[in-house]
Amino acid sequence: MDTSEKLFEQAQKVMPGGVNSPVRAYRAVGMTPRFIQSAKGAYITDVDGVQYIDYVGSWGPMILGHANPQVLRAVEQTMKNGLSFGAPTERETDLANLVVSMVPNIEMVRMVNSGTEAVMSAVRVARGATGKDKIIKFEGCYHGHSDAMLVKAGSGALTGGRPDSAGVPAAVAGDTLTATYNDLDSVERLLQANKGQVAAVIVEPVAANMGVVPPAQGFLEGLRALCDEYHALLIFDEVITGFRLARGGAQEYFGVKADLVTFGKIIGGGMPVGAFAGSRELMEQVAPTGPIYQAGTLSGNPVAMAAGITQLTYLNDHPEVYTKIEANTTWLADQLRALEDKYHAGTTVNQIGSLLSVFFTEQPVTNFAGAKSSDVARYAEYFRHMLAQKIYLAPAQFEAMFVGNAHTQADLDATAAAAEKTLAAMA
Ligand code: PLP
Repeated sequence: MDTSEKLFEQAQKVMPGGVNSPVRAYRAVGMTPRFIQSAKGAYITDVDGVQYIDYVGSWGPMILGHANPQVLRAVEQTMKNGLSFGAPTERETDLANLVVSMVPNIEMVRMVNSGTEAVMSAVRVARGATGKDKIIKFEGCYHGHSDAMLVKAGSGALTGGRPDSAGVPAAVAGDTLTATYNDLDSVERLLQANKGQVAAVIVEPVAANMGVVPPAQGFLEGLRALCDEYHALLIFDEVITGFRLARGGAQEYFGVKADLVTFGKIIGGGMPVGAFAGSRELMEQVAPTGPIYQAGTLSGNPVAMAAGITQLTYLNDHPEVYTKIEANTTWLADQLRALEDKYHAGTTVNQIGSLLSVFFTEQPVTNFAGAKSSDVARYAEYFRHMLAQKIYLAPAQFEAMFVGNAHTQADLDATAAAAEKTLAAMA
């Protein structure tokens, strides 16, 4: 028994599945999760001292790599003054200013503690501002674990076979309508059938929780036009894409304007931060200036703000990071596609920006049905082979591979070599 196995046994006695977030339990890959001791740059080290090249990056936040010295220094400095005050600090304004300056089409921001909270609050703003109750989301998109969003959800909910969670009241789920990603007709049909009742359409501008599925040409523009036509707000859930596709996220990358935007992951530099943002007109409807209530004991936590400010400032000052990580991810995707041509292991590789997925299906993956056609048992086999070669991937098919600024060409070469061994063995 290795140390992870021992620790996991103990953990399972006091936490459901031994974890605090389901996918971490490694159930989909039939293994014991690696318990982590530390991480630095592109590498993560388990409690037995085994070091892996990490493409999970804490599920997205660690775009600059783990234990970034500047971020750590900012956290150390800030915590000396106390951990939490429950009162305004200048750093909250600093982070809000940074976000507003980096992201197009937003004027005001409210900080929260997670992506889930950000989405839950943005949806409330949409409902409060429009006076309508219904929301359209897309099958296989994941927007956190609030009641309204656990309807045909992706990520761990999908992996665990619970895209519609128990415990969500039917009345709540009934106000969440689901459309097909990359299919504008499916959205228009819902808008037409529920005329005057839809507060917002919420979308991951790049779907990354059914594996990575980029938007088809014209899809996001089409959503914008439909929302305008039917007087619904367009919410971009940029918890993954924000500060990752570009400094200004998907709005900048695709040149499409959203009415409300949600953030998480990168915005906190590895600390628990989320945010929702929009025009002054919409955001001033939030308490205390408006009637839409939202609050948080630890929201805008000074230490978390310091980490976020440091990471975002670096990204803002170094736009070349985006060119580099996109080029590196494109290179890796090309290698993986070449391996498919060579070994015919039955894979489809989707990539955009620094997000990548290897699907174990031969059909193009443009929506949830395509993603679901993947052979999850074969993904599990791929995962186990890769882990044995010290490549740390998401332990589930319906997740993204996150490439970051710390990955070197040597890391990418090692990853491609491990994939070649794996896919050759699986062909
Ligand atoms: N929205 C998207 C697009 C996400 O990927 C996630 C988490 O993976 C969330 C929302 C929820 O964020 P959190 O896990 O911080 O609550």
